[in-house]
Amino acid sequence: MVFVQCAEPADRRVERSVYALGTRCTVSLFYTAPLPFDPDAVFEAVSDRLQTIEQVMSANRADSQLSAINNAAGKNPVAVAPALFSLIKKSIGFAHKTDSAFNPAIGALVKLWGIGFKNEQLPAADAIQAASALTDWKTVRLNSSDTSVFLPIAGMELDLGGIAKGYAADEIAKILRSMGVERAIINIGGTVIVLGKKNRTQLWKIGIKDPRRHDGGAVLSAALSNAAFVTSGSYERFFEQDGKRYHHILDATTGYPAVSDLVSVTIIGENGADADALATACFVLGKKKSLALLKTLPQINAVFIDAHNTAYITDGLKNRITVLEPPFRIQVLE
Ligand code: ADP
Ligand code: MG
Repeated sequence: MVFVQCAEPADRRVERSVYALGTRCTVSLFYTAPLPFDPDAVFEAVSDRLQTIEQVMSANRADSQLSAINNAAGKNPVAVAPALFSLIKKSIGFAHKTDSAFNPAIGALVKLWGIGFKNEQLPAADAIQAASALTDWKTVRLNSSDTSVFLPIAGMELDLGGIAKGYAADEIAKILRSMGVERAIINIGGTVIVLGKKNRTQLWKIGIKDPRRHDGGAVLSAALSNAAFVTSGSYERFFEQDGKRYHHILDATTGYPAVSDLVSVTIIGENGADADALATACFVLGKKKSLALLKTLPQINAVFIDAHNTAYITDGLKNRITVLEPPFRIQVLE
């Protein structure tokens, strides 16, 4: 047995998981004794916030405020909580910025395909066309004076599944900071925020999975502090029918799962909501258009993995990415 004498005081961790927003949410808090916060109070505040976000923003709960907007499509505007109004506004901003690749008005198509739900199926071509016609986010009417939202055409539906987990991670980060937590990992179904550093000398190391390996093993690792880390890929949720694979990131312009030259996109940025929306958008846009988009967003970094074991990384990640599995190659994007 070897005893290592450590100059640093022992590092401790408390961790809790809850199921919310359709996924497992884990929050890990790190500290050196004595405990600088009350873990039970922190976890309770986190869990309450996740429940509220789900109650307000879920497209899969009939009683959510988002569903109230959807149910009133073609009829009347619905006044909603300012937080939901702001997230819808932000989502529409991303639809603008991404040339509609990120589309929060994609709900009718998401419901039709039902990917990840019991009714998942390859829909009939005319049903796909009809649902695609209900995804024009430019028609969504936002009224900031009473934070109301109006979908002008019956059948239109908002879906925040591409941004809500990032938003939730941001909200949890705020709670943790306000309660005295300095170092933490927040993981909302793979949408990750790290707070602080691992310790005085080391950054957090977050693994990026091989999209095609089912054991979930990491092939790359990114060294980060105070960052949001979000991966979108065609392997996360899908079904197979007649030997073809249909995944859950849809292209509203075709009505079908997005055909991308990338198998996964990881976005690293300062906040979770932006990183989440951009990860979904870049997957739809593919490598070339994503690069053009990222040129306009200097604070955002990315790792694009293609089907040939190449990981393209933005310049800002040059000294932060380690290859864990030899067949993977890294290429720095210009
Ligand atoms: P994950 O849910 O696996 O983290 P994403 O953040 O990429 O992945 O979000 C995918 C979810 O977003 C889908 O399940 C659906 O609810 C919604 N969605 C699908 N396609 C789009 C799109 N083009 N733009 C915005 N949201 C989308
Ligand atoms: Mg997303």
